[in-house]
Amino acid sequence: MTVSTCVSAAKNGRILIVGATGFIGRFVAEASLDAGQPTYVLVRPGPLDPSKADIIKALKDRGAIILQGVISDKALMEKLLREHEIEVVISAVGGATILDQITLVEAIQAVGTIKRFLPSEFGHDVDRADPVEPGLTMYLEKRQVRRWVEKSGVPYTYICCNSIASWPYFDNKHPSEVLPPLDQFQIYGDGSVKAYFIDGTDIGKFTIKTVEDIRTINKNVHFRPPSNLYDINGLASLWEKKIVRTLPRVTITEDDLLTIAAENRIPESIVASFTHDIFIKGCQINFPVEGPHDVEIGTLYPGESFRTLDECFNDFLLKLEDKLELEKNKVSNKTNAVVETRAVTATCA
Ligand code: NDP
Repeated sequence: MTVSTCVSAAKNGRILIVGATGFIGRFVAEASLDAGQPTYVLVRPGPLDPSKADIIKALKDRGAIILQGVISDKALMEKLLREHEIEVVISAVGGATILDQITLVEAIQAVGTIKRFLPSEFGHDVDRADPVEPGLTMYLEKRQVRRWVEKSGVPYTYICCNSIASWPYFDNKHPSEVLPPLDQFQIYGDGSVKAYFIDGTDIGKFTIKTVEDIRTINKNVHFRPPSNLYDINGLASLWEKKIVRTLPRVTITEDDLLTIAAENRIPESIVASFTHDIFIKGCQINFPVEGPHDVEIGTLYPGESFRTLDECFNDFLLKLEDKLELEKNKVSNKTNAVVETRAVTATCA
């Protein structure tokens, strides 16, 4: 079904992004700048490590306005929101500070002029997905934030973008920062449970689209592009085609994942519990998008395409070539020896 009404709720409205130095928040901040929105970025005061300072500088060079503050300071947040006439607040805080958003919601409610709030979701529909601990605790916190938002009366949108496009390592919370495997594939269960893999730039781009769209007010927006639906066996075959070699497959059973989750090592055990929920229980695909609060992104924007997983894996291949080239130069500079092209480990991208 194509819905044609698309009224802008915040056309050129000022957007405040919390967490832009983080993994998901950076995609959102860049997409906001790409879309020409007046973009404000909240940065925690204090010393910054060089990589975060570089991110802030890059955003500032592109026109972002940097504000200092923490979301757990209600008075400060009220002041910033008022002074800068912010209309939309997007939070992408990490798992450890999910509950800090409750104070942010209180500040937004007190200001009274915010047209949309997007809490830090960017994954599964947390009211439906039901991971084992310790992932469950994060979802309980995200659910708690949802209930506060709903009670506040502030218009909201929950972004349920599913998985980031990459090899879904069960022990790495930002898997798209590393290459898919080059030694062996770890296949969860029988490898046949499907999930949606979305490129980070598309998570940012479509998130920004929703804040201008009245059809997404008080809705869960589900990212389910058919071109990005794969099971682990399919992902492995795709990567094998790219690297033109076959890799052995090792099975990680349901019990293996549950054991790692039970070890309660943070963040690895949280990722293992989500991996179990996605690739054993099928939490991304085991419900239809048809509730009164559900909308699917492809239905909202039928003319827009998503980057395919094939394209995303080409990016990884390029990184691999760069890496191999670098290694080759390093060895030849050091020893002047004959250099063999060899596989690098998956952790060094
Ligand atoms: P990160 O830990 O990478 O980044 C968190 C950001 O929030 C940082 O910029 C941090 O600032 C900022 N921040 C944290 N607390 C506060 C605060 N109190 N006040 C102001 N700023 C704060 O987070 P992720 O990108 O990993 O996670 C963001 C969301 O995305 C989460 O909801 C997570 O569950 C989800 N996610 C989804 C993935 C997927 O595959 N779908 C993958 C990864 C995450 P500072 O730089 O000072 O630390």
